[in-house]
Amino acid sequence: MELSITHYNAIIIGAGASGLMCAIEAGKRHKNVLILDHANKAGQKILLSGGGQCNVTNLSLSENEFLSQNRHFPISALKRFSQHDTISLLQKHGITTCEREHGRLFCEKSAQDIVNMLLKECKESNVAIKKSCGSLKVEKRELFRVWSKNESYTCNSLVIATGGMSFQIKSGLGFGYNIARQFNINVVRIKAGLVPLTYGNDDSKIFSELSGIAIDAVASSKKQYFRENILFTHRGLSGPAILQVSSYWEQGDTIEIDLMPNIDLCDYLKQRKLKRPKASIISILAELAPKRLVEKICLNNLVVNKPINQFPDKEIIKIAGLFKNWSFKPNGTEGYRTAEVTVGGVDTNELSSKTMESKKVEGLYFIGEVVDVTGNLGGYNLQWAWSSGYCAGQFV
Ligand SMILES: Cc1cc2nc3c(=O)[nH]c(=O)nc-3n(C[C@H](O)[C@H](O)[C@H](O)COP(=O)(O)OP(=O)(O)OC[C@H]3O[C@@H](n4cnc5c(N)ncnc54)[C@H](O)[C@@H]3O)c2cc1C
Repeated sequence: MELSITHYNAIIIGAGASGLMCAIEAGKRHKNVLILDHANKAGQKILLSGGGQCNVTNLSLSENEFLSQNRHFPISALKRFSQHDTISLLQKHGITTCEREHGRLFCEKSAQDIVNMLLKECKESNVAIKKSCGSLKVEKRELFRVWSKNESYTCNSLVIATGGMSFQIKSGLGFGYNIARQFNINVVRIKAGLVPLTYGNDDSKIFSELSGIAIDAVASSKKQYFRENILFTHRGLSGPAILQVSSYWEQGDTIEIDLMPNIDLCDYLKQRKLKRPKASIISILAELAPKRLVEKICLNNLVVNKPINQFPDKEIIKIAGLFKNWSFKPNGTEGYRTAEVTVGGVDTNELSSKTMESKKVEGLYFIGEVVDVTGNLGGYNLQWAWSSGYCAGQFV
């Protein structure tokens, strides 16, 4: 049976943060827009975000908070639709926010408010949304042609807004990257980001018992430093500082962790040696960090628990180093199953930073997480989705 063909100015594949934003903007320009999504609900990842409260943007937006092979690429879009524009949009809909540490802005009530806001804007802009569309096929002749389960469409502009690999319906995994490859557009190697790191066998035997301990620390990799909590789990290390550093980590790298960032530990131990000479080294260290953690690190490094005055200063320096520069070598990450983002993606050298359009294929756009632009933890990924979606929406 021949399928009927409907024509749209723009078809957007993906009803997530970037796709909905792009559709709203194109709709405001009186474009005839269709969004196709294989899920049965729009904005599912937004609902999961920020523990259900959606960390919608960050008050101190800066390009330094983004990872990309071309770190300058996001600047233009982030300027044209900034954190202030996000806040104005929320205010227009009466959505109240609260600021948490590091300028992170969350919805006061629920992430559902954000999805409702986007769907309301889509309705006002006459955007059509088709959910549960099944698997899609795309082809370009004069126009783009898109086949869904039982329909076929043509369009002048095709926008790929299918996000990354984490928390996806299995059947559609990697669709956006495959479309890029279909059109000969380079994809920068992808990996899980903002993800817990796992222990190797030896560390697992030692540290898995510490599961549940959280501590303020500085985790660093490749000259990127993050001061936030780290959390010991059964499988490895998690918590915001570890999630942050995981995006920069590559297999085989070691992560440096300062477990006592508030203090010059060497000085502290020397002073305690004078004041409490008979106190044991573990009890002194346990003044600064959970005792179970102190015991494990000492045991693992063959530090005998004896009175602090029995340690010459040379050894005190070494002990301080164990806590100030703890070298942790993960054996991997928990992967896309628990990752918040996908690092890498459609090569930004292939796209216009002004429009998000492919330089090779006229009318083909990539926005949001599918692009090789990844934000640090803190509302940066959603802001990138809003900004890139907004920009493409002005041109499709
Ligand atoms: C648990 C969790 C919490 C997070 N919390 C935050 C946070 O608080 N703040 C923040 O800034 N970022 C957060 N992120 C990251 C943020 O949610 C994403 O970076 C952002 O949603 C990306 O937007 P997007 O539009 O590119 O993709 P998505 O929002 O993932 O949308 C992609 C859409 O495309 C659809 N799709 C995918 N493949 C196909 C296909 N083959 N056919 C049809 N449709 C398809 C999907 O169903 C989906 O609706 C979080 C991520 C996770 C997983």
